[in-house]
Amino acid sequence: MEFNSPERPLTSNTVAGYRGRFAPSPSGLLHFGSLIAALASFLDAKAHQGKWLVRIEDIDPPRELTGASTNILKTLDAYGLHWDEEVRYQSQQSERYQALLSALKKQQLSYYCQCTRAQIKQVGGIYQGHCKPLSLPAQDSAIRLINHFAIHTFDDIFQGSVTCDINLAQEDFIIHRKDGLFAYQLAVVADDIEQGITHVIRGCDLLEPTARQLTLFKTLQHNAPQFGHVPLAVTKQGYKLSKQNKAPAIDINKPQASLIAALKFLGQKPENQLVHASVNEIIYWAITHWQRNYVPKMAQIVI
Ligand code: GLU
Ligand code: ZN
Repeated sequence: MEFNSPERPLTSNTVAGYRGRFAPSPSGLLHFGSLIAALASFLDAKAHQGKWLVRIEDIDPPRELTGASTNILKTLDAYGLHWDEEVRYQSQQSERYQALLSALKKQQLSYYCQCTRAQIKQVGGIYQGHCKPLSLPAQDSAIRLINHFAIHTFDDIFQGSVTCDINLAQEDFIIHRKDGLFAYQLAVVADDIEQGITHVIRGCDLLEPTARQLTLFKTLQHNAPQFGHVPLAVTKQGYKLSKQNKAPAIDINKPQASLIAALKFLGQKPENQLVHASVNEIIYWAITHWQRNYVPKMAQIVI
């Protein structure tokens, strides 16, 4: 089998300054669904001469599985998904998140809220701004962003024009939780800005949160990255493969078969001989043949 040398200059498709990332939460090991997100973000970055970063989103200690971070990184390595630059751990970024919260407060772009889940459920499940005029104390409060933009549509690299639920998009959403933890929306946007991320490629489970993230980028007067959401792998019952529903971890010792299955899932057309190729050969083939327009839109059943 003939493979082009990785040294061959790749001049097509260059996007100046492309910086992508894979941002797993260490609440479990990598499963086939997370491999798809990792592979898609890696291939899209590399096919555009970009950098690919890995960020461990470990800001929710109660949900963390001991040893998962190390295992995830080892698995990515075994799968030939080598990252550029140092791995960032969100657990080490608290000061920056705190500074961002303070800046938002100073600009009167946030407020304290003490509503319970049950109270919000009573008003239809969408928070209606109840605590905004109340000037509540910080103690026992969550912090909500004053949502001036309610962005609810965006152009997605794979899904085309996306419209999110307008009611959800209008919500003053939580940026710091009552239990003292930073909210995912805050941390993810803070880091995507700080790390200069230009392209966010991830699974369709994060389509809805994108609207909020776009609102946060705009509130912070920062250009948002381009977003691309790849289809979810789901079970026959229609559930997405996830750590919560105990999707099996991918085998660190058998990367080839899973890589080829993931490429097929992403609509790519791996050549038959690739089943006998090494991990590096598969990855090299995949980078040089990556076609965004082959990626299907819908969720696909895998188990
Ligand atoms: N940490 C998030 C997760 O594992 C993904 C964040 C992102 O890609 O924006 O679901
Ligand atoms: Zn409230």
